[in-house]
Amino acid sequence: MGGIYLSDVLLDVFKHQRVLLLTDLKLIFLGTSASVPTIHRGLSSVAVLRDGELFLFDAGEGVQRSFPKAKIGFNRKMSIFISHLHGDHCVGLLGLLQTMSMVQRDKPLTVYGPRGLIGFIRNNIRSLKFGLTFPLEVKIVREGLVVETRDYFIKACIGQHRMKNFVYSLEEKDRPGVFNPKAAKNLKVPEGILWSKLQKGESVEINGKIINPNLVLGPSRKGRKIVISGDTRPTPTIKRFISGADLAVLESTYFDDHQEKAKENLHMTAREAAQMASEADVNQLALTHFSSRYDDIAPLLSQAQDIHPNLIVAEDFLVLNIQYPDEKV
Ligand SMILES: [Zn+2]
Ligand SMILES: [Zn+2]
Repeated sequence: MGGIYLSDVLLDVFKHQRVLLLTDLKLIFLGTSASVPTIHRGLSSVAVLRDGELFLFDAGEGVQRSFPKAKIGFNRKMSIFISHLHGDHCVGLLGLLQTMSMVQRDKPLTVYGPRGLIGFIRNNIRSLKFGLTFPLEVKIVREGLVVETRDYFIKACIGQHRMKNFVYSLEEKDRPGVFNPKAAKNLKVPEGILWSKLQKGESVEINGKIINPNLVLGPSRKGRKIVISGDTRPTPTIKRFISGADLAVLESTYFDDHQEKAKENLHMTAREAAQMASEADVNQLALTHFSSRYDDIAPLLSQAQDIHPNLIVAEDFLVLNIQYPDEKV
């Protein structure tokens, strides 16, 4: 009996590993300075890599230089999301498109962003007189759903800035629950392709009888949610939008000494970002987009850490791996 018990346990562990359906999700900061680049910080850009696909949020000037350093290829499956048309968030697009053409990118690329982006790209490509080696599509973003695939959503919400600014989220759809091999055996489902279908949440047919995956799967497991703010004041709409995020990347242009400037220029202080993230039950908060007036962020951090303890300061080329909520257990 002991042997049978042990093999069942091993089978369970093996199947469990197989059906965790884990997908890599990591975020790399390519630029973390506001408006003006510094010796250590480039202009705004965040790369998110999921299952080999790249999502680039904003493209500050010179962003293509950071691709090789971050070990990101120029010809991978990619889409770009521009928060707003201030130069420190979008001027890098032109250099990036040109570099991608110089290295003969051939995969299609879609760039999403506010109205005005189409003219900005078209006119500049025309005046710079370079031809693209790949199909380029530019799509105007509206608040709400931007992209939906089998696995995830990209959504946008409007912030409060000197011009229209989109806050973006990448939200994974739920994964099927954990597969129970004993239940499958009891239902006389033969191991192999039918198990694999059930594990993926598909029904199977055995001798004319339909087996619903719910009979062999635990409760569905939550996907992950990442939010990236662009430039904005804190607002109740954004607070709702970032609610429950596993990771929120929020701009923190200023600290307490420039609270008035933050209001005037429609940016956030670290304290305000932490307050909003805390009220929105964000698991981890990464502050970015710092004014170049601050040489050293560390001594200022206590202003926000007391409010949201799970807080980090973004640095160029910092990599964050985002775990599933059930993976952390
Ligand atoms: Zn900015
Ligand atoms: Zn701005």
